[in-house]
Amino acid sequence: MFSDDTIAAISTPLGEGGIGIVRLSGKDALPIAEKTFRSPRNISLLNAKSHSITYGFIKDPATGHVIDEVLAIVMRSPYSYTREDVVEIHCHGGMIPLRKTLELFLQHGARLADPGEFTKRAFMNGRIDLSQAEAVLDLIRSKTDESRKIAMEQLQGGLSETLNTLRDRLTELCVNLEAYIDFPDDEIETALKNTFLQSMQDIGSELALLLKTYDEARFFREGLSTAIVGRPNVGKSSLLNALIKKDKAIVTEVPGTTRDVIEEYLNIKGLPVRIMDTAGIRDVQDLAEKEGVKRSLRSIENADLVIAVLDRSEHLKDEDFEVLHKIKNKNCIIVLNKCDLSSVIDEVGLISKTIPYNAHVLHISATRGDGLEALKDIIIESCLKNRKEERDGIVISNLRHKISIEKAMKSLDRARHALTVNQPLEILALELRDALDRLGEIVGFVTTEDILNKIFNEFCIGK
Ligand code: GDP
Repeated sequence: MFSDDTIAAISTPLGEGGIGIVRLSGKDALPIAEKTFRSPRNISLLNAKSHSITYGFIKDPATGHVIDEVLAIVMRSPYSYTREDVVEIHCHGGMIPLRKTLELFLQHGARLADPGEFTKRAFMNGRIDLSQAEAVLDLIRSKTDESRKIAMEQLQGGLSETLNTLRDRLTELCVNLEAYIDFPDDEIETALKNTFLQSMQDIGSELALLLKTYDEARFFREGLSTAIVGRPNVGKSSLLNALIKKDKAIVTEVPGTTRDVIEEYLNIKGLPVRIMDTAGIRDVQDLAEKEGVKRSLRSIENADLVIAVLDRSEHLKDEDFEVLHKIKNKNCIIVLNKCDLSSVIDEVGLISKTIPYNAHVLHISATRGDGLEALKDIIIESCLKNRKEERDGIVISNLRHKISIEKAMKSLDRARHALTVNQPLEILALELRDALDRLGEIVGFVTTEDILNKIFNEFCIGK
């Protein structure tokens, strides 16, 4: 259910900063802020102009204590993020002043916002559609400039516009078709039937093009999950460190969890590369050799790309062959590490064994840095097969969108089949309406509370 009460939350990250912001949104945002805000020049927030900044203090009305020295920004409905009245209080950036300010707002009638509730209100009040709301989260989470560009395109309505144009074309088709249903005795003329078939095919082809962008675009949204595998001592950790040193990994620590799930992202030419199980790579010395390999092998399953490291200065061992066997069906790169030392492995034999499954084989030295640039090029090449220097056109990067588009295409296919074999036009109309609904799900024309909860629960509180 959509509520019209007034919500409040701290909108900046927890911790110390120059400033921190407490945000209020809803019909009582101004009166609630006014109860705790004092301006030395006696300016009332109730009379403040929209998009104005007022200097003052947050004071506890019960005790008269000054909580913080602040700036209050008033944004009146409908010209705000949520389209409701919004007040942002810019406090000093520490947990205590922010928490105290928030507590005062809650005591005076606001409710603590749910995760993503400000953005949800922006959607419910029609300022943005659902795919744009999702893009807000993608933008916040973007790991590279290229990821940011994709999110920003979606936030600015690029995807919505494309889908809405296709929906308009589908609606027109439905309307024309339904005109025939009203006159069941009239047989649909062949010329018109062909026009209908052609239109459905054209819409289907455009959806197929959109769908084709998913595999690559999702790497920019989610990161390319990459497993660096190999038996202990081949140089996995040295390789990871060498890649990180050059590219400054972005480390995201998931709060409340152990360092086992620390994610490290490398920015390889704009592609966020998520290294899986970095703790496993680094701590492998502490583990028994067998356990280390087991752990490596486990991370292969969920990886988009596997980098298998072999030590070319030593003869290959059973564990190396176990690793090579496991990566057979994966998108993988085999690196022969320690190329600063002489090689003792039978490279020709190895290459003839690995070529059948299309692995790239590459010599590097993790400690000296040889071959790292080539490795990066191969990472990009192996995952972004259709990459051009400049991306053009709209892409889809979100699994939810992909599933809806696939469903819409299936409905369109069934509709075309129904028309081809002269099934009743009602069946055709039903399939077209279904395709329309599936595309409507993406932008949020058609939605359920469940879908909304799933999307907005991923946000943090305060966004
Ligand atoms: P891991 O167990 O697979 O993570 O292997 P490490 O990265 O800990 O490396 C094992 C040993 O090999 C360390 O002593 C490294 O310094 C060494 N090593 C790693 N890469 C190279 C390399 O390219 N050349 C040489 N000579 N030694 C390396």
